[in-house]
Amino acid sequence: MWDTIVIGSGIGGLAAAAALGKRGQRVLLLEQHSIAGGLTQTFARQGWSFAPGVHYIGGVGPDAGPAGQFGRLLAWLSDGQLEFAPSANPYDIVRLPGFEFGIAHPESAFRDALIERFPTERDAIRGWFVACAKAQRSSFTLFALHSMPPVLAFAMRLLRGGEARHWAKRTLADELARFPNPQLRAVLAARWGDYGAPPASAPFVEHALVTGSYNAGAYYPVGGPARFAQALLPTVEAAGGELRLNAAVRRIVTDGGRVSGVEYERDGQLVSESTRCVISAMGVVNTAACLAAGVAGAWQQAVRAFAPGLSYLSLFLGFEGDIAAAGATSANYWIFESEETARVWRDPADTDAPGFFASFPSLKDPAHGTKPTAEVIAFVDSAFFAPWMEQPDGDRPEAYLALKAWIEERLLAQFLRHFPALKPLLRFHELSTPLTQRRYVRSPAGAAYGIEMSAQRMTSPALHVRTPVPGLLLAGQDVTSPGVQGAFMGGLLAAASRDPALWARLRT
Ligand SMILES: Cc1cc2nc3c(=O)[nH]c(=O)nc-3n(C[C@H](O)[C@H](O)[C@H](O)COP(=O)(O)OP(=O)(O)OC[C@H]3O[C@@H](n4cnc5c(N)ncnc54)[C@H](O)[C@@H]3O)c2cc1C
Repeated sequence: MWDTIVIGSGIGGLAAAAALGKRGQRVLLLEQHSIAGGLTQTFARQGWSFAPGVHYIGGVGPDAGPAGQFGRLLAWLSDGQLEFAPSANPYDIVRLPGFEFGIAHPESAFRDALIERFPTERDAIRGWFVACAKAQRSSFTLFALHSMPPVLAFAMRLLRGGEARHWAKRTLADELARFPNPQLRAVLAARWGDYGAPPASAPFVEHALVTGSYNAGAYYPVGGPARFAQALLPTVEAAGGELRLNAAVRRIVTDGGRVSGVEYERDGQLVSESTRCVISAMGVVNTAACLAAGVAGAWQQAVRAFAPGLSYLSLFLGFEGDIAAAGATSANYWIFESEETARVWRDPADTDAPGFFASFPSLKDPAHGTKPTAEVIAFVDSAFFAPWMEQPDGDRPEAYLALKAWIEERLLAQFLRHFPALKPLLRFHELSTPLTQRRYVRSPAGAAYGIEMSAQRMTSPALHVRTPVPGLLLAGQDVTSPGVQGAFMGGLLAAASRDPALWARLRT
C-alpha cells in the first residue's frame, strides 16, 4: 500500500512526488517512457545533446519576493542540487522583415525600450504594462480557485473572482487593439508560442503570467533540463519512494467510487498497486481515459469536451565550431516572415513556416560540453498529421517518412536563410513531429502544452486539482499553466491538497 501514487514523471509529477517525500510519504512514481522527466527529459544523438521542452525559465533568480519563489521551492525540494545560468539580456529577440527588437529584463527596461522605439504610443504602452500587472495578479486568483478547498474558494470567488474572470475572457488580441502600429503589435504578440495560443484565442491573463515570469530574468538549468529529475528523485527515494519507468498506467481503480489503486502495463504484464490517493500528472484527458465509464461521468464528459492544443515541429541541429562567432547567442529568436505573427503553419508540405522560434542551448548551459546545438520550433495544426497519429510507434509508413524528410529540408533551409553563417558548421539535423510528442509524453494529438489554451481552460471547474473522484487529484500543466514553472506549481498544489501542511511551504 503506497501513501500516494503519482502518474507521470514530468515536472508536475516530480514536484508532487518530491514534496510528499519531504513530508515522509512513500510515493510510487509511474512513467510510461524509458526516461524520466516528461518534457524536461534530454536525449543525445552522436554526442549532441538536446532538450525538447525547455529553452528558458523564469522565477529562479536571486529575488527575495515572488519573482524568486520557483527557485527557492526547487532548492528546498532538491536540497540545493539545482543551479541556473542567466541567459543574455535582451533574452528574447523578435525579428520581422527589416525590423528587430530585443526584449530585456527588468520589465522597466522592456517598457522604456518600447517607448523609445515607438514614442508616439507612449501612453498606450504604459497602459499595456498596467493591464499586464492586473492580469498577472488575477492569474494567481485563478490558480487558487483551481486548488483551494471549497469553503475558501467560495470566499475567494466572492472577493476576486469577477476580476479574474474578466481577465481570463479578455484575449491578447483585445488588448493589442489599443496599438495602431503593426510592428509594435507584432513585438507584443510574438511570444504566443510560449503558451501555444495565437492572440485571437489567447487569454490575456495567460500571456501576462507567462511573459511576466521572465521580468526578473531568463535562466537555463546548468547541466540541462534532465537535472530536474536527477535532483528531485533522490528526495522521493529518501522517503522510501520509487520511480518505475516503462510503466504505462491503463486504469485508475476505484472501489465504491473511491480510488483504491492503479493498474499499469510493464513488459506486457498488467501490474496492480494499491493506494488511497492517486495524483495524476499525465494530463487531464489521459486521466479521464483511465477511469471506468460510470465513475464521475459528468466530469469525464466535461474533460472530453476539451480540444487538444496546437502541436509543433521541432528541428534539432548539431554543429562543429564556434557558433557564437557565426551569430548565435544565448537569447531566443522569434522570427516571422511577415508582420502577421499570429499565423499557424497549416500546410507544411507546400509552404514555409509563417514564423519559428530558434534557441541555442549549448550557449545557455555552461556545462553543456563542446558540441554546439540549436533547437528550432514551429507551431503546426496537428490535423495535418492525423492520418498517422494513432499508428503503432516505430512502424511509420513510407508516405509519412517521405513527407517528414521533405518538411525537414524545408524548415532547415528556412532556418539557414536567417542564420547563413551557421551553414558551414552544420553537421547533424533531425526533425520531430506531433507523432514524436504523442509517443514520448502521450499528449493527445501531440499537443505541445496539453489541452487547448482558452478562457474556458483558465476558468473551468473540471480542471480543479481535486476531481469529483475521492482520492484522485490532478497535477501538472493542465491545472495551472503551460511552462515548467506552471506545471511545477500544479504539482505542488496537488501535493498540498494531499497533505495540507505543505500549504505553508508554498509561501516560501
Ligand atoms: C516544444 C516545447 C518547448 C517548451 N519550452 C519551454 C520553455 O522554454 N520554458 C518553459 O518553462 N516551458 C517550456 N515548455 C513547456 C513545459 O515543458 C511544459 O509545460 C511542462 O514541462 C509540462 O510538465 P507536465 O509535468 O505537466 O507534463 P509532461 O512533462 O508532459 O509530463 C507528463 C508525463 O506523463 C507521462 N505519461 C503520460 N501518460 C502516462 C501513462 N498512461 N502512464 C504513465 N505515465 C504517463 C508522460 O510520459 C510524461 O512523462 C515547452 C514545451 C514544449 C512542447
